[in-house]
Amino acid sequence: MAAEFSVLERNILKAKGLTEEQLTTLVEMGVQSRADFEQIGTVLTLLELLPELDPGVATRLLEWALPPAQVVAASVPAAAPTINVDASDAVYCTNCNHKQPKDYTPGDLCVNCGRQAEPIEQCFWCGASGPGKRCRNCGAKFVPTAELSLALLLRRDGVAKDDIPRRLLDATPEEKDEMWGRVRRARL
Ligand SMILES: [Zn+2]
Ligand SMILES: [Zn+2]
Repeated sequence: MAAEFSVLERNILKAKGLTEEQLTTLVEMGVQSRADFEQIGTVLTLLELLPELDPGVATRLLEWALPPAQVVAASVPAAAPTINVDASDAVYCTNCNHKQPKDYTPGDLCVNCGRQAEPIEQCFWCGASGPGKRCRNCGAKFVPTAELSLALLLRRDGVAKDDIPRRLLDATPEEKDEMWGRVRRARL
């Protein structure tokens, strides 16, 4: 018996930001139940399947679909090297803007408001997620979440891991438009 999304599940998916068209594409690919999202597993894989999907939507979808333990496991890598933050690279809390102490380590809670000082980012290279400026798993520099699809495109182009964030930073708006065009066409 083929599992299908229930009416409630379809409504939840749409509430997370999935369009009817994207939902149909996913179903055609074989993603027909919440459990199928577990096989997809990471935001990265979901974006590879649906490159034009907004990474923020992809993150929300997986947060809903994955069992909580799995999400936690993905965001807390076993061996986390300590990254020293020097004075020129001070970290400010994204919630209250409070400057973090010198011994701040990515993942620490804000000393002022007690919330996660930095947002959790998704690595374009290996799919791991975590706080800070770099992936703790593979060392790649995080790119803005909104440009995750472009980073995946450059990765497919064979651009080196360390060059991708710089390429995106240096790209003109026209170049980015061109890249978004290719991201969309990749789905056709
Ligand atoms: Zn704070
Ligand atoms: Zn990584």
